[in-house]
Amino acid sequence: MKKKSRLWAFIKSMKFRLILLIIILTVLPSVILCTGVLNSYESRAVSIRESEVLRQTTILANQVATSQFLTDTTDSTANIQAQIDMLTTIYDGRAIIVNDTFKIVYDTYNLDRNRTIISEEVIKSFSGESIVNYDSINHYIEMTTPIINPDDTDGRVLGVMLVSVSTDNIILNESYLRQNAMTILMVLVSLFIFFGILYVIYLVRPLHKVSQGIDEIQKGYGADKLEVTDYTETIQICTKFNEMLSSMRVMDESRQEFVSNVSHELKTPLTSMKVLADSINSMPDAPLEMYQEFMGDITNEIDRETKIINDLLSLVKMDKSAADMNITTVNINELLEQILKRLQPIADKQKVELVLESFRPITADVDEVKLTLAITNLVENGIKYNRDDGEGWVHVSLNADHQYFYLKVEDSGIGIPEESLDLIYERFYRVDKSHSREIGGTGLGLAITRSSILMHRGAIKVYSVVGEGTTFDVRIPLKYIV
Ligand code: ADP
Repeated sequence: MKKKSRLWAFIKSMKFRLILLIIILTVLPSVILCTGVLNSYESRAVSIRESEVLRQTTILANQVATSQFLTDTTDSTANIQAQIDMLTTIYDGRAIIVNDTFKIVYDTYNLDRNRTIISEEVIKSFSGESIVNYDSINHYIEMTTPIINPDDTDGRVLGVMLVSVSTDNIILNESYLRQNAMTILMVLVSLFIFFGILYVIYLVRPLHKVSQGIDEIQKGYGADKLEVTDYTETIQICTKFNEMLSSMRVMDESRQEFVSNVSHELKTPLTSMKVLADSINSMPDAPLEMYQEFMGDITNEIDRETKIINDLLSLVKMDKSAADMNITTVNINELLEQILKRLQPIADKQKVELVLESFRPITADVDEVKLTLAITNLVENGIKYNRDDGEGWVHVSLNADHQYFYLKVEDSGIGIPEESLDLIYERFYRVDKSHSREIGGTGLGLAITRSSILMHRGAIKVYSVVGEGTTFDVRIPLKYIV
C-alpha cells in the first residue's frame, strides 16, 4: 500500500513529468527522424536505380533498333549482346528482347528463346510506352521499353526489351543502415535519459530547499525566515511564505497577549474580593456598617467580573464567521430610539444631555443584536467619558443614501489623545486605565463595536480633540453583502 502510494506520488511529481517531457522532446524526434530517413531511403534508392537502368535500357534498345539484332543474333551483333549481358550482370538481372511477332529473340538466361510472350506490359510498350514496375515484396524492378529506330520518322515499334533487375543490395544496405541507426539511437536515448534525469534532479533541487526550509522553520531550528533565491518563482514563494509567517507570528503574539490580558483582568476583581473578605475576617468585632460596606464593595467587584465575562462572550461571538450573522430587516430609527431610551437613566445620572436626530426613515438588513451592541457601546462611551459639570451632551444623528446608512455619535467629553486613536479598538486598551476602571470600563467595548461593524461590511472612523470631544462616524450598507 505504502509502495503504491509512493509510486503514485512519484508519478504525480514534477520530477517525473519533467523526465517524461525531456524523453518525449528528445527521443521521439530522434526515432521519427531515423525511421523517416530509413523508410525514404528504399524508395529513393529504388527510383535512382529505376532511372539508371531505364536510361541504359533505352540506349541499348536504340542500338538494337539500328542493328540487325532482331533478325540476326549472330556475330555482327555480338557487341550489343555483350552490352546487354554486362547490364544484367551489373544489376543482377535478366533481359529479354521480343520482336514484333512477340517472339523472344534474345534472353540473357537463355531459357525462353524462340518462345512467344504476350503480357499486358509488352502490349502497352508496343504502343511506344516505357513501363517500370517495382515489386517491393520480391525486391526487383521490372521494365519494358519499346525498341524504336530513332532515325525512323514513323516511330514504328520494332520490338520490346524487357529488363528485370534485383534490388536485393538496396535492401541489404537499408538493413545495415537500420542496424547502425538502432545502435546510435539506443546510445542517444540512454544518454538523453541519463543526462535528463541529472538535469531534472538539479532543476527541482530549489523546490526541495523550499520544503526543507519550511520544515526547519516549523521545527524551530535554522533561520527564522525562508530564503531560496535560485529561481524567480522560489523567491516569490519565499516572500509570500515569509509574509504569512510574520502575520501568523503577529497573530500568535496578539493571542498570547490577549490570553494574558484576560487572565489579568479576570484576576483583578477576584484579588480585590479576597482582600476585602480577608480584611473583614481579620476583624471579628467589626461593626455591622463596616460589614455592609465591605459586602457592597464585594458585590461591585462581582458585577465587574460579570461585565468582563459578558463582554468577552460578546467578543467571542463577534469573532465567529459571517454565517453566524442573523440578518433581518430592521427599522434603524426605532432601534436607535430604543437604545437611547435604555441609556437615558445613565445619561441622567451623569447629567449628560442625550439627543437623537433622524434625517429620514431607514430600514436596513442587519443583525439586530450585534448592531445594538455596537451602537450601545459608542453612546455609552460618549456618556461615560463626558464632562462632569452638568453641561455635557451626546448627539446621535442618523442619515442615509441609496447604499448606506450613516450614524454619527458626537460628544462633548474628555477626548482621546492623538497617539491613542489607533489603539482604542484593541482589546483591553484604555487611555486612562484607572479612570476607565473607576467608571466600569473593561477595554473591550470598542473592540466589540468594530468587529460588529466590520461583520456588517461597514466602516468606523474616529475624530477627537482632547478636552473638546469625540466623534465616531459609522457607515453600514443598507443591504447585507454576503
Ligand atoms: P472601555 O470599556 O474602557 O470604555 P472601550 O473599548 O469602549 O473600553 O474604549 C477604549 C478606550 O477608549 C476607553 O478606555 C477610553 O479611554 C477611550 N474612549 C472610548 N470612547 C471614548 C469617548 N467617547 N471619549 C473619550 N475617550 C473614549
